[in-house]
Amino acid sequence: MFLQTQGITKEFGKLRAVNEVSLAIIKGDIHAIIGPNGAGKSTLFNLITGYHRSTSGKVLFKGEEITHLPAYTRCKLGVTRSFQITSIYPKLTVYESVLMALLSHRKETFNFFTSAKKFFKEEVWRILEDVGLADQANILGDSISHGDKKRLELAITLGTEPELLCLDEPTCGMSTEETDNIMSLINKLSTERGITILFTEHDMSVVFGIAKRISVLHQGTLIADGKPEEVRANEEVQKVYLGGTS
Ligand code: ADP
Ligand code: MG
Repeated sequence: MFLQTQGITKEFGKLRAVNEVSLAIIKGDIHAIIGPNGAGKSTLFNLITGYHRSTSGKVLFKGEEITHLPAYTRCKLGVTRSFQITSIYPKLTVYESVLMALLSHRKETFNFFTSAKKFFKEEVWRILEDVGLADQANILGDSISHGDKKRLELAITLGTEPELLCLDEPTCGMSTEETDNIMSLINKLSTERGITILFTEHDMSVVFGIAKRISVLHQGTLIADGKPEEVRANEEVQKVYLGGTS
């Protein structure tokens, strides 16, 4: 199995934000986690990527337990989430930001603005072209549009050569058009680079339009898990989520 959680649980004081969730993510899938606000989606992501320590339970990646590994080590292994560009490289250009991600991932010793720049040039351009930012390569990360910042986040994440890419509400704050663009980009990354995608998204038309598998959380508990048509037909899901407001 590619990625698995076994009875993963996270408590914040008395609140059980994630309750014994056992989940399997298949290599190459586009897998959505859905559920109302406060269902535990972000917490589950943090447990998978290593930004939270679990109260109990396990996370396994390609058969190896990674439960106690820090986020940085998981990222090296290929379990990555998107980074907040706004807090990382606002004063670098789009090009430099992606280059920086590649360099720090590959741990090269480098003279940043000379030899390394040439060495990684091809890969940076490939990433920028993939995410549609090639024409903005020389613009500061600070100065691009919100939608393009999301693309840059993805580009930086690609610089870490992910195998499993976790995207927590990647279309947050986007217009319908930007949402469509980013989702087709995610689809492309999955098919062309073979990256497995785990994502959360509140817009059900987006989820059902792209996900190959959907897991539903409700108050920290996994209440349904399966193909989109199975999840859509699930009565409990309809009761607590799809039919409700959220
Ligand atoms: P979702 O992403 O599905 O909206 P979250 O995982 O963010 O849900 O939150 C699940 C529950 O855990 C919520 O009740 C939230 O208030 C609580 N929670 C999340 N993070 C923390 C934290 N760091 N400390 C305390 N409670 C938290
Ligand atoms: Mg969340």
